[in-house]
Amino acid sequence: MRRYLVAGNWKMNMGPSAGRELAAGLQELLQGRQLRGDVLVCPPYVTIPAVGEVAKGEPVLLGAQNCSDQEKGAYTGQVSVDMLKEAGVQYVIVAHSERREYQKETDDMFVAKINRIHEAGLKAIFCFGEVLGERKDGRAEEVVRKQLEGVLPRLEFANAYNTVLAYEPVWAIGTGETASPEQAQEIHAFSRKVVVEIMGQEVADYMRILYGGSCKPGNARELIGLPDVDGGLIGGAALKAADFVGIIEGAEASQA
Ligand code: PEP
Repeated sequence: MRRYLVAGNWKMNMGPSAGRELAAGLQELLQGRQLRGDVLVCPPYVTIPAVGEVAKGEPVLLGAQNCSDQEKGAYTGQVSVDMLKEAGVQYVIVAHSERREYQKETDDMFVAKINRIHEAGLKAIFCFGEVLGERKDGRAEEVVRKQLEGVLPRLEFANAYNTVLAYEPVWAIGTGETASPEQAQEIHAFSRKVVVEIMGQEVADYMRILYGGSCKPGNARELIGLPDVDGGLIGGAALKAADFVGIIEGAEASQA
């Protein structure tokens, strides 16, 4: 019912030449394959044009890791949604835990960004997830509910297709520690229930919820095969073409 999405977040890695090379490697490994889902890479801003020259949406889609919450003008260092659209971007990641933590971004900013992304006809990947202390205190569901309720009801144009959710337990990001299949399924099912409450059953049935946090070729099939997991947001393992393709193969196998 839901096409998987495997999305690579390159973070602050890969300048234009390295990024072009990685994208070309992906294209080569994926050439001629009929995929059951979607594959996306999100390079740093400056690398987007170089990757766009190689990845023309067949099959690798182009995304960005962030965007401004403002439309245009005197916002030094920021990049607008319209600029990303012009550069060929189709998806934009919003609210990654690293931006929540290091840039202190807030729900108000996430809402403004996602509304702009949707208004421009692009898709948003909205990240959420608890930190280790919150999980240890038994508060994972409470935190996830708060993060979803702080943003989803305020979106003006959201639907099941222009909005992707990404559950990323912060304790599993870049740590090598992965949520167990039981932990992942539990929070994904819970998140979908919250989406039902906010956006209705039909939207929740079609909305993709990705898992992120040390996903790799060895665990992708099991994680992405879970009933409420519809793909992965991949950090470290997205930086090597063979690993990223291994995850895509895991996603394919999980849906075979
Ligand atoms: C991420 O930061 O979105 C992520 C999932 O990273 P990693 O795969 O490296 O844990």
